[in-house]
Amino acid sequence: MTVSLEQVPNPAYICPDDMACSNLDRAAQVLHLDPSIVAVLRVPKRVVTVSIPVRMDNGQIRVFAGHRVQHSNVLGPYKGGLRYRDDVTLREVSALAMLMTWKCALLGIPYGGAKGGVAVDPRSLSLGELERLTRRFTSELVRDIGPQLDIPAPDVGTSAREMAWIMDTYSTSVGHAVPGVVTGKPLSIGGSRGRDMATGMGALITTREALATANRQLAGTTIAIQGFGKVGRAAAELFARQGARVVAVSDGSGGIYDPDGLNIEHLADFVRDGSKVAHFPGAKLIPNAGLLTLACDVLVPAAVENQITDKNARLIQAKWVVEAANAPTTLEADRILEERGIIVLPDILANAGGVVVSYLEWVQGLSYLFWDEEKVNHELEKLMVSAYARVLQQANHLHIPLRLAAYTLAVGRVVEAFSVRGLYP
Ligand code: NAD
Repeated sequence: MTVSLEQVPNPAYICPDDMACSNLDRAAQVLHLDPSIVAVLRVPKRVVTVSIPVRMDNGQIRVFAGHRVQHSNVLGPYKGGLRYRDDVTLREVSALAMLMTWKCALLGIPYGGAKGGVAVDPRSLSLGELERLTRRFTSELVRDIGPQLDIPAPDVGTSAREMAWIMDTYSTSVGHAVPGVVTGKPLSIGGSRGRDMATGMGALITTREALATANRQLAGTTIAIQGFGKVGRAAAELFARQGARVVAVSDGSGGIYDPDGLNIEHLADFVRDGSKVAHFPGAKLIPNAGLLTLACDVLVPAAVENQITDKNARLIQAKWVVEAANAPTTLEADRILEERGIIVLPDILANAGGVVVSYLEWVQGLSYLFWDEEKVNHELEKLMVSAYARVLQQANHLHIPLRLAAYTLAVGRVVEAFSVRGLYP
């Protein structure tokens, strides 16, 4: 099956320079893929952009832009998070939708990839405004999402609370309760035990496996974590419980540092009511940029994309970079880290714990049978350990870095399914 490259649009929202596209191209080279199939995979299958009018508390109407990008449904329903951030762009969401396709394929879960976003700073809205925004966005997307079609989940700036509003709005419009339309929802409406810690848990498991590959263990390992939101906080708590020394963490307000290890339990309690990391009593303050280049064994970017760049990659002292965030490393920086022998556990592997437990939540919902946390964590452990082992084996076999190895496995799986299904008509 071939399609001509000229027939495939290459819209501005997917730039060939994007990290996601470049990694796809590199994997395609290794796999000797037909360029026309690669051309299909470079662009999202569907892009939905809506305007979201919201009545603000002062009576005025503000209009927000919302996107949902559905990259591929070759392996199953579209799946991916929904982010609320003031500078969200369609291009960013498109690249992240593609990453979701590879992540699900790599982990062997039956989903395609999607991502959504609304250009809004959620902290600038009241609770009522946020709820009206979320419900109106959902109602605009009601024909585009669904438990067999496209299943959103929390991401930057959203949480179980927004998922509950989406589930309720969707259910109200179709006339019956549809818990499976979102994952990462509260336990009381069909959420899964273990989902809130899942992305951090996945990062912990892949780090533990990578350290073991080098005959090292978590206990005593020094770790710096950028971002102290849902992912960073969970990762910090889990690393600390395993005896690792979390020497620095940061959020948007700045970072804190203690070479003897921060008290993560106290810090997690401290920020629970919205306090900033930088205000944690008694901590030594460090700038956000400084956290990335601290002396430590493992650096965990868990905030937003493009944090490790050609400006700071040469200064990084960690031996392992664990990409708990999506796309935290630019292409140039990735090359520099590779040259310097720093091992990067790529995002599509290191932060896949979230989508794995989302999948487990969806499976539990579809079977009306809910598991205890031990069972959820056991399934997560199995999937993460086996994905890491496959990536490592591929890297050793082909003498390529872990990121490229992960991409070759993921892209290969999607291409195989695409070829078997064929092109309609
Ligand atoms: P979140 O909104 O809960 O937290 C983001 C954190 O990053 C906050 O603490 C924020 O203050 C901080 N931050 C933002 N900019 C920063 C900067 N420049 N320096 C330091 N800190 C900064 O979001 P999250 O859900 O924790 O997501 C974090 C990353 O993990 C994103 O890249 C997201 O796509 C990815 N991810 C999330 C999940 C999930 O289950 N939530 C799953 C997979 C991947």
